Amino acid sequence: MFYYSARPPKEIMSTTRRAFLSRSAILAASVAGSAAAQTPNPHPNPDAPLTFQPPRRPVIITRETLDNSVTEAYALLEQGADTLEAAIHVCQAREDDPSDHSVGLGGLPNEDGIVELDASVMHGPTRRAGSVAALTNIRHAAKLADTVMRRTAHVMIVGNGAEKFAVAEGFEPENLLTDDARKIWLLWKEHGIGWWGPGIDSPDWKPPVATPPGAIPQAALPSMLQLPRHPTREHLPAVEARMRFLSDRAGRMGIPARLRAEAALQVLWPTTGTIHVSALNTKGEMSGATSTSGLAWKIPGRVGDSPIIGAGCYTDQDIGSAGATGNGEENIKIAGAHTIVDLMRRGATPKEAGLETLRRLARNYNNDMTRLRYLDMIYYILRKDGAYASVSLWSTRGTGEQKKFVVHDGTLRTEPCDYLFEGTTQSIHPF
Ligand code: ASP
Repeated sequence: MFYYSARPPKEIMSTTRRAFLSRSAILAASVAGSAAAQTPNPHPNPDAPLTFQPPRRPVIITRETLDNSVTEAYALLEQGADTLEAAIHVCQAREDDPSDHSVGLGGLPNEDGIVELDASVMHGPTRRAGSVAALTNIRHAAKLADTVMRRTAHVMIVGNGAEKFAVAEGFEPENLLTDDARKIWLLWKEHGIGWWGPGIDSPDWKPPVATPPGAIPQAALPSMLQLPRHPTREHLPAVEARMRFLSDRAGRMGIPARLRAEAALQVLWPTTGTIHVSALNTKGEMSGATSTSGLAWKIPGRVGDSPIIGAGCYTDQDIGSAGATGNGEENIKIAGAHTIVDLMRRGATPKEAGLETLRRLARNYNNDMTRLRYLDMIYYILRKDGAYASVSLWSTRGTGEQKKFVVHDGTLRTEPCDYLFEGTTQSIHPF
């Protein structure tokens, strides 16, 4: 039984609900991931009636960060800090970490070797939003998005304009391309492939053909798309051969030994990654923030989903907050974060809303698993009453381990993501 805070007209509500519930029932039976246990939730059970009562303790939901920022942000919330301040705090720790090649300083650059950042924020209590895209030379992209929101009459500022605005607002410009990231880029420049089409959604796209291990000409580019990215035992020699080839080239280019394997992996399977944080306090106030350097080796000026309000980040103070990491182009096409929040508005639990949104992504491909294998998406979802979920298109990481997300509601922990499809995307490396 679901309750609604903002009730649609009766007939619309019943049709929508019926359709939603019957779709859910059918899909629940067919989706591998639906068997995964509902995440244990010390807050109101996600399947319980939606009352929108604020939780007794603050809640933060995000990706694994391997730093103290979530604990610190939680302490900030306990001390009465604003939910957006807490969310940005977690983003900034990633933006400051040069070894994190997916965000801020140390992010992998575009195909010209320039780091371009995307970020957005939504502040529930004031129902405002800010964002920056294709931002250069300023590491704290999430804070800058917040500054756009607070200091201007705009929502989104991009490119040179964003950098100029940042400097005018006292942000320190700096080169975001670290020496390690530059070396990895140089190796990619010589041996990798980029993002020119056909894209996976193109009728001209063809699945990559696995080159037999014995038939790799040394001179051939170890092309990302020639390699089976979900290698079976039979393919492993081909993967190893490409890794050896690239590590050897890396050595000849002066890339230090400690970096060679990582550089080779980044050429074959370019890093993707984003930090999204949704935060909720005991007053029921909530905010979301998302920050990323986007897809490694992207075409200059490419903007992903992270700075798009409603795609990479969306917060509705009445309902909940959501954000994403994964193939941004796919998420933009389904307005992922907004779709999730809107489904929760209609009574879906965080998990149901996330899985239904992933189904829309799959629907854009007519559920063609050959293409969907090359995509991935994870959503982080927090409802106003403290119920939460994280859902993923694919269940496991390259290592075969189930994907996890981070929750702090007084206890910091990781929990397994729910998922739509069992298995691993081929867009990440198998190590
Ligand atoms: N969503 C990001 C983008 O498309 C990348 C990622 O999260 O992996 O720019």
